[in-house]
Amino acid sequence: MQIHKTDVVIIGAGPVGLFAVFECGMLKLQCHVVDTLDAVGGQCVALYPEKPIYDIPAYPQIMAAELIEKLQAQAAPFSPTYHLNQRVDRLQPLADAAGWQVVTSNGTQIEARAVIIAAGAGAFGPNRPPLDGIEGYEVASGGNPAPVQYFVKQREAFRGKRLVIAGGGDSAVDWALSLAPIAAQVSLVHRRPKFRAAPESVRQLEELCASGKIDLVVPYQLAGLEGDGQRLSAVVVEDLDGGRRSLPADHLLPFFGLSMELGPIADWGLGLTRHHVAVEAVTGRTNLPAVFAVGDIAHYEGKLKLILTGFAEAAAAAHAIHPLVYPDTPLHFEYSTSRGVPVS
Ligand SMILES: Cc1cc2nc3c(=O)[nH]c(=O)nc-3n(C[C@H](O)[C@H](O)[C@H](O)COP(=O)(O)OP(=O)(O)OC[C@H]3O[C@@H](n4cnc5c(N)ncnc54)[C@H](O)[C@@H]3O)c2cc1C
Repeated sequence: MQIHKTDVVIIGAGPVGLFAVFECGMLKLQCHVVDTLDAVGGQCVALYPEKPIYDIPAYPQIMAAELIEKLQAQAAPFSPTYHLNQRVDRLQPLADAAGWQVVTSNGTQIEARAVIIAAGAGAFGPNRPPLDGIEGYEVASGGNPAPVQYFVKQREAFRGKRLVIAGGGDSAVDWALSLAPIAAQVSLVHRRPKFRAAPESVRQLEELCASGKIDLVVPYQLAGLEGDGQRLSAVVVEDLDGGRRSLPADHLLPFFGLSMELGPIADWGLGLTRHHVAVEAVTGRTNLPAVFAVGDIAHYEGKLKLILTGFAEAAAAAHAIHPLVYPDTPLHFEYSTSRGVPVS
């Protein structure tokens, strides 16, 4: 597998990670950026894309998703390489203190002189239902797709399959609607009779239930999995009185939203204070050489967890990294108005 080499690897493509690309770019530091999500934007895109933000300087009001679009456009002239849909699992030092290698959950390897951790509250991941043995069913085996999946990557993979979809929000309802025409059978499990989805989607759902294309299993919740530990044969559900039903199934698709967890970052030997990385104020220097932390994940006395704070931290970290990449080139402080930006 190819080993990517770059000046700086940025862990997290939230607003602060994106602005770190710009600040590094202004100092001629090339960046690779990794995120667990399949899109850039961190909390702004995953949690509140359509909420207005009021405390971004010079924007009296800006939608979170629009802020991310602008940050990505601002970073674009510096041609960052994004590695999305993968989590940084390992951080290991290169020989002779030459920098760091990060290894992601997809096996991507990136070597860099410095690392900026802009990981917010940690990696986003699906909320998994607490079912015995579920891990065994989350893995694809024998050329077959994994029986339990939290994101639909390929709709066609479910053609002719018996599906149990769980959840009460837009994702569960939208996927039930989308997969019903191609699946052999769709059961939609929710612990309440009402769904928190767009009214038009709920109307379509009622129509498909009435015509027998979707089996509505309410109010029930997931209680267990039946199968050989790798291949699923049924999903067990339970009502509020403990009454159980077994729904024959090839796949379970739970849509219970996203959670954030620090995950592997906790094992990298960084000084942690209550799930945050302790850093030198402003520069973001951690206890590991050439490893910096900025944005929500970074903690020092007086820290304000705001996007604008993270922006300033990103600028300071980039300046602190410059001498590591260009030890023989003194850095003369310059305004962007003097330096200019490349034309993208
Ligand atoms: C509802 C809501 C409203 C808010 N309103 C405001 C506001 O008005 N003003 C304001 O300033 N702030 C606001 N915030 C807070 C703001 O969103 C955060 O301060 C900001 O998102 C922090 O940016 P970040 O880049 O540090 O981290 P995040 O946005 O959390 O992004 C971190 C990224 O790192 C990724 N990541 C973590 N670990 C790994 C790993 N190991 N491998 C790969 N990727 C990883 C995550 O998947 C995530 O995408 C709000 C937050 C919420 C939830």
